[in-house]
Amino acid sequence: MQPHKQTAWNQHKSFFFNSLKATPSKCLSPEGQCTLPAIRSHSIPKQSVLTHLSEDGHVIAPDAISSIGKSDHIRFVQQGIHKATTFPGLCARHDSELFRRIDNGAISLEDQEQLFLLAYRATLKECYATWHAAMIAQGNYRSRVEKNLEIAHSESEVGMHATRAIIAAIRTKNYKELADAALTDSRNDHWEHKSIVLKEQGPTIELSALITLDEYKSSTTPLVAINIFPQEGEVIVLFSFTKEHEHHARHWCSKITEQCGDYQKYLISRMVLQHAENFVISPTYFDRMTESKKALLQQFFMMNLFNNDDTFDHPDLYLF
Ligand SMILES: [Zn+2]
Repeated sequence: MQPHKQTAWNQHKSFFFNSLKATPSKCLSPEGQCTLPAIRSHSIPKQSVLTHLSEDGHVIAPDAISSIGKSDHIRFVQQGIHKATTFPGLCARHDSELFRRIDNGAISLEDQEQLFLLAYRATLKECYATWHAAMIAQGNYRSRVEKNLEIAHSESEVGMHATRAIIAAIRTKNYKELADAALTDSRNDHWEHKSIVLKEQGPTIELSALITLDEYKSSTTPLVAINIFPQEGEVIVLFSFTKEHEHHARHWCSKITEQCGDYQKYLISRMVLQHAENFVISPTYFDRMTESKKALLQQFFMMNLFNNDDTFDHPDLYLF
């Protein structure tokens, strides 16, 4: 990196970490002023998971995020719903107040506020996850520099990994601030939504994620919130994006929304395994899979942790 760019980058990085000097348990409320401790917030409505997916309070989920980097340790394992779908993002008051409208009762695809809240919760979770990942990556890099295993500001693999993690965290933080403003000003009309309803589809997975569309070059990298949840014998797949990202996001979504039947379910399954880590699988459904299919799903998930592989195909890549 050139010296002047290095200085600017260091200032940017320093500003980011100073702005997040709070403990990992800081409440990420939209006003940004809350000092109450964060609880284990549900990223997927607890009631929905309990009702539709869990078995004896357990679901199947990818192993802990902190395992990323040790890719051979990532497995789809049984987890209690309090671990699998929660993150320390909001205090009890904000968690309850903000999401009351989507936690208690059915979701209507006509209700713009409910749809925005689903996207907002996915954004919060990703904001926490990317910040956490950046802290770990940067901590690892600093530790290696202190031990003389790295030369400071060199473009080593570990240093570049930390840089990418910080860029992702800053991008998500900026996006959350847009969403915060939309929430506090009741301007959820800045968000657009596109949905698919899978008819007569049993509950097999739930998901809440905010993903980055790196393949589109734009002034700001497009992001899309995705929620998948069962409801009344159907499964809803919901894509949410800002008006600014609408053009790219709709193009990206259309690759799935314009298909139908089993092929569409295949594309949704691939998307989940390629882009998301915050999803849970029904234990009943998972137990019915052959061991080779379970291994395939985990292998594909791991293959895509750091680089998306669009060439790999297999007829067993189904989550429905
Ligand atoms: Zn709070």
